[in-house]
Amino acid sequence: MIQVGVNGYGTIGKRVADAVAAQPDMKLIGVAKTQPNYEAEAAVRKGYPLYAAIPERADRFHESGIDLAGEVEDMVMTADVIVDTTPSGIGAANRELYERYDTPAIFQGGEDADVADVSFNARSNYDLARPTDVRTARVVSCNTTGLSRLLAPLTEEYGVEKARVTLVRRGGDPGQTSRGPINDILPDPVSVPSHHGPDVNTIFPDVDIDTLGVKVPATLMHLHSVNITLEADPTAAEVRQLLANESRLFLVPEETGIDGTGKLKEFAMDTGRPRGDLWENCIWEDSVSMEGRDLYLFQSIHQESDVIPENIDAIRALLDWEDRETSMATTDETLGVGLESLFDGQRQRVVPRTDD
Ligand code: NAD
Repeated sequence: MIQVGVNGYGTIGKRVADAVAAQPDMKLIGVAKTQPNYEAEAAVRKGYPLYAAIPERADRFHESGIDLAGEVEDMVMTADVIVDTTPSGIGAANRELYERYDTPAIFQGGEDADVADVSFNARSNYDLARPTDVRTARVVSCNTTGLSRLLAPLTEEYGVEKARVTLVRRGGDPGQTSRGPINDILPDPVSVPSHHGPDVNTIFPDVDIDTLGVKVPATLMHLHSVNITLEADPTAAEVRQLLANESRLFLVPEETGIDGTGKLKEFAMDTGRPRGDLWENCIWEDSVSMEGRDLYLFQSIHQESDVIPENIDAIRALLDWEDRETSMATTDETLGVGLESLFDGQRQRVVPRTDD
């Protein structure tokens, strides 16, 4: 069993903790929190051992009647691997702590790429994290994860000449009451490219990609408007079939009546997804179009959850525990990744494609 500690128990951390707890080959040894808030209470209710992320604040937990299992250093010392899910920049500051105890660590996409030995996306470059001298990995951001999952089968099957993506980004997560805009549409950043294209190049160094960012007053999901010039000219039906074969891509059929991210989230909740999470890229099937060698499509990315399966696979890759196919299949099966609509006759597979 892999002993996993989660440092930072917010939007991503609480989901990673639940996903770790669901794995047959992993044990969640604890989660570290800075303060005894509602999320700490939820962790206690789930029976997760709680560690003080900031030792000087341990008394606050005791005063709130919450028992601690120890301080974050105790967790780092015991763990086989730490998943750092602290806010952007804190992960980099925590790196020294993990190095002190020689504990392999996984960081998140809010950190700069140089925080870790490799940037990671399970479908695209799992094996780069496996060598023994690789001790740290960065699971790329929600948007980069979504783009990498899309680019992986397209580069393998057809080759990609050029990708141009406009990312319509949610202003904040539902719990981020301080974020905005409230009533505006912001080119963000106003310059081109946004940071997403260079981030995709940490996974696909050779892909020519330009990205533009726009921020809107929404909290549910991001939406990508994608144009990719392929090196071949498949039909739209062939591209749809290629994408439908991927377990972490969900092709949304027109018949479902899902016309936006609101209904996507409703669908996730109606089908019993925990927290209404959508771990898959949600690609509107009818948007998948070919004009010559130009592919067009819209996809939505649930920013709070698409990186969760990737964190689980990153744990196995970093410890060289399983190969990619086995890890992704285990993750998908235990979490229930591989959303299928009963309206859609095309989807058959829930397991990832193999290389052959
Ligand atoms: P969050 O603010 O929801 O959660 C972070 C948690 O870490 C909070 O509970 C905070 O109190 C805690 N924390 C702060 N300082 C700490 C410290 N020193 N030690 C331990 N815990 C500490 O943030 P998040 O949205 O979960 O983001 C975490 C990381 O994941 C960031 O790098 C972010 O860029 C990345 N990420 C976020 C999203 C998203 O949409 N939320 C998507 C993909 C990746």
